[in-house]
Amino acid sequence: MKVRFAPSPTGYLHIGGARTALFNWMYAKAQKGQFVLRVEDTDLERSKKKFLDEILDSMKWLGLSWDEIYLQSERFDIYREYAEKLLTEKKAYKEGEAVILKMPQKQIKIYDLIRDEIIFDTATLKDQVLMKSDGSPTYSFACVVDDALMEITHVVRGEDHISNSPKQVIIYEALGFKPPKFAHLPLIMGEDGGRLSKRTGAVAVSDYRKDGFLAQGVVNYLMLLGWSPGPNKEIVNLEKAVESFSIKKVNKTSAVFSMDKLRWVNSQHIKQASTESITELLIPFLLEKGYLSEEFDRKRLENVVSLFKGRLATLADFLDWADFAFLENIDVSDENKKQFFNAESVKRFHLLSKKLSNVDPFTAQEAEKGFRDLVKELDIKAADLVHPVRVALTGKTIGPGLFETMEALGKEKTVCRLKQIS
Ligand code: GLU
Repeated sequence: MKVRFAPSPTGYLHIGGARTALFNWMYAKAQKGQFVLRVEDTDLERSKKKFLDEILDSMKWLGLSWDEIYLQSERFDIYREYAEKLLTEKKAYKEGEAVILKMPQKQIKIYDLIRDEIIFDTATLKDQVLMKSDGSPTYSFACVVDDALMEITHVVRGEDHISNSPKQVIIYEALGFKPPKFAHLPLIMGEDGGRLSKRTGAVAVSDYRKDGFLAQGVVNYLMLLGWSPGPNKEIVNLEKAVESFSIKKVNKTSAVFSMDKLRWVNSQHIKQASTESITELLIPFLLEKGYLSEEFDRKRLENVVSLFKGRLATLADFLDWADFAFLENIDVSDENKKQFFNAESVKRFHLLSKKLSNVDPFTAQEAEKGFRDLVKELDIKAADLVHPVRVALTGKTIGPGLFETMEALGKEKTVCRLKQIS
């Protein structure tokens, strides 16, 4: 068996295209078949190299490798040859320079793996242009010639192409080729019930990457758009998904793209990944933001990452949550100052900074001991000091455990930040 993904490089790889690529890829792997990447760049005006590069990069990033790759722009001779053949056989005629296929009057049966049999009547179809007068093939003609010559056994594509399928079967039959089987994947809608738009998630895969989504998270979410790895088994990697993937189990009803769900799925993959690998992925983000210099203490960084790994939806979230660990000085909002800093708390910060400056080694456990000692001496409740100290150290009212935060911050910064407040 052999399938293909056939993007047009007239735009970036979006969620819908990536889902089509992924389902073809999973189907090929599950069936031990071949996966062809066919670049449909017959529109020489609108096809752009930057789009092709982005599509290939995104496919690689997602882990969707191909067995063969073709560019339709290099195959114009082949389309011309088959158009000539249809002219000679009088199945097509010329109108100016254009080559047009006569539409036979008949019923067309299509076998769809998801929808079973689909029957069309060609009576409503007009004669079809195969070659345009500028010498370029139409989408359907190039698509059929290629699917046939590349020996594609299953055409898996979005439901938006369902009306193209009978027209293409007619071309197969005219050329004397055996039509493939089809599978039309359900549409992806926005949460507002409309077509997927920029606002509802139709953004380039490369943008999700820039926003700090993991490839595994995006791939995992994409597979849920029309298929399910099983009850309570939503979080899976590609290899696991392939083991249970079945094209016949793909839904007929449209899928809904949910940004919240994508973020949740991604958070699960961040949580499952090792601290080392998440640290590795975070480094470019931190460098770009100026939070790291070329030389940095990797152990310390991993320490900070491990504090936050369990609560990040995206890598970018880390920059917001953990900024205090990288900035020289933190900002405390006026509102937080008013609520948490007063003469009494400032006095306590100074006492705590003195206490902590004697803690050695500066581990979470030892820092906690010092903190508890002070609480006892002052005869106050721990909670009365925890929240103001967190704000003093991080500028935030919520975050991971205070003592782990201190350890990650290090003695010098912890002591200094407490001492600085006046
Ligand atoms: N180039 C077409 C598209 O991007 C391919 C459709 C097909 O899979 O046949 O929509």
